[in-house]
Amino acid sequence: MNANAQLPSIEPATGGSPPPTLPLWHSAQEMQLISASAELGPTATADGQPDPSAQVVPRGPSRITLSRAVSAGAAETITAYLEPFFTEAREAQVLVLQGGGPPLRINGQRAPRVAVLRPHDLLQWEEGEYQVALFLRPVLGPPPSHLIGVPCPVCRIPFSAEDEECYHCACGTVMHLQKSKPGGLECALVRAPAGCPTCQRALILTGRYALPGGGHG
Ligand SMILES: [Zn+2]
Ligand SMILES: [Zn+2]
Repeated sequence: MNANAQLPSIEPATGGSPPPTLPLWHSAQEMQLISASAELGPTATADGQPDPSAQVVPRGPSRITLSRAVSAGAAETITAYLEPFFTEAREAQVLVLQGGGPPLRINGQRAPRVAVLRPHDLLQWEEGEYQVALFLRPVLGPPPSHLIGVPCPVCRIPFSAEDEECYHCACGTVMHLQKSKPGGLECALVRAPAGCPTCQRALILTGRYALPGGGHG
């Protein structure tokens, strides 16, 4: 990336209405843009927080402004609108709608006016590129009311309204994870090597980036 290129800005395209209430799994998946010059890709910090250089793609529509120097002191701007969304399989992707300026490229190909970015894609313009990254956080919380009395898929003990600490998979499966209770049920830890009993997704027990090669692996 040209060291003098102005850094892109990402800002909400709409006013300040609060986001709607969303399922827990939704809020735990965050799309980010990372400078692709970081050759090792994004790295979570030791305590499971996102790469400090990551720019979050906000929920709802947002506008990204990129700039390209056309001559000394003069820059041309490239505008695009971004909006994260989830597929039916609850995989996070980002819709891109190009506005003004020269066309963007995705993974080296000229992007159509409306395109979709997936984790690990490269979003490129003439002076730089960003890698799309999906940051995953553990989803912890009480079981939803419709699962009270339903057996945990790991230990078969029914969930109760007092089970405040459970692990939630993106597929909706819930398992005990009573970390703060001495001798508490730790069904998600027991199950971690094999993945979710329903969808086989890897369990996200600490904040980290989705790995290349698919889904939440
Ligand atoms: Zn259990
Ligand atoms: Zn699952």
